[in-house]
Amino acid sequence: MTLISIEDARELILAHCQPLPPEDLPLSEALGRALVHPVVAAMDIPPFDNSAMDGFAIVAADTEGAKEEEPVSLAVVDVIRAGTSGKQVVVSGTAAKIMTGAPLPEGADAVVESESTTETAGTVLVRRKVKSWDNVRPMGEDSPKGTEVLAAGAAIGPAEIGVLASLGMPTVRVYRKPSVAIIATGSELVEPGNPLAKGQIYNSNAYTSEAQCVEVGVKPQRMGIAPDDYDVTLAMMRNALVNDVLITSGGVSVGDFDFVKDVQDALGVERKLWRVAMKPGKPLSFGVFERPEGGRCLVFGVPGNPASAMVSFELFIRPTLLRLMGHTAVVRSVSTAVLAQDEPNSEKRVRVVRVWLERSEGRVLAHSTGSQGSGRVRSMVGASALAFVGPEGSGKKAGDQVDVMTIRETRV
Ligand code: AMP
Ligand code: MG
Repeated sequence: MTLISIEDARELILAHCQPLPPEDLPLSEALGRALVHPVVAAMDIPPFDNSAMDGFAIVAADTEGAKEEEPVSLAVVDVIRAGTSGKQVVVSGTAAKIMTGAPLPEGADAVVESESTTETAGTVLVRRKVKSWDNVRPMGEDSPKGTEVLAAGAAIGPAEIGVLASLGMPTVRVYRKPSVAIIATGSELVEPGNPLAKGQIYNSNAYTSEAQCVEVGVKPQRMGIAPDDYDVTLAMMRNALVNDVLITSGGVSVGDFDFVKDVQDALGVERKLWRVAMKPGKPLSFGVFERPEGGRCLVFGVPGNPASAMVSFELFIRPTLLRLMGHTAVVRSVSTAVLAQDEPNSEKRVRVVRVWLERSEGRVLAHSTGSQGSGRVRSMVGASALAFVGPEGSGKKAGDQVDVMTIRETRV
């Protein structure tokens, strides 16, 4: 298989992602999910004309000519608290004291804010001319009944939850989360907490992948370490195919003991891609396992180098998990920044440089996090973005503009 670009690889992978079946969730559990159906307002929000200020509900025409030094005097006939409604009709020459959010009383067509009034026993002096609808939030202003207020596939964030709650909906239909299994491969790997023998290293990829899943709201299952042994790897991967997604790390390159692709083939995983034109992360593999009993498992083989594994997750697995959860927006936003240092690239692959962004003198500068070796997990530490350099040519110089994908908060 030939190398394909990052964008083509992502498009190809997403073409195999169908949203999972829906479920209904209480609002307080729906954060981070995506809407199955568009939401149409079944009622007006707000449900009634109401005051935007603490002040007095009046007939605006009464304040014609009112000025600071020539206030208009009105008789106060009622006090309307939020959650109640006025008992008096406001006619010309009268006013009702009103609190923010209380319904506009009959007869009134405006509210004058307290700051422009002086209240004395039984009367209020209005010190400015008020226009009809001043300080009134009309019924349906926020969401008119019958309008689509949220689109299908929209990500449910705090604001969307607010809209659902304001419409009186206690639950929402969302797509379910994928089940994800993670297997680290490599005979050199040992779980943290155990002693290391000569030649061994700790398994870090399984934990970074797990954490990256949790960041999108998915709790995966770490299934342990598969040594570089065909039969053991086969048995462990077979067990994991009941999940919606399987992520293996390592063993997917061209080494003598890289069995992951052979095992995928033996298990009937149909490979859709292998090798992406990027550095780090070239030997990524992606395939689909169709379960005989129905359903499928999306099988990712990410390279073992820790930076490769993390970058592959960011660029391909994160969008996959989001799409399985029904999100329409699954790719992090890309903007431009100016390199703070030279970033060479003589290869036919895009370099994905881990950078931190800084706003300086009206520009956004992309600073390297340091040595960018694929094996260095620390190159991801403190990275707020991935910068894309290349492919081909001599790379970019300090001051050149590059595309950057923000992956976390930026220093200010
Ligand atoms: P591989 O892709 O299996 O050839 O592994 C590439 C490099 O990544 C080797 O130096 C491995 O020791 C290292 N590596 C593989 N898996 C892990 C892991 N789970 N945690 C940390 N390093 C790993
Ligand atoms: Mg290996």
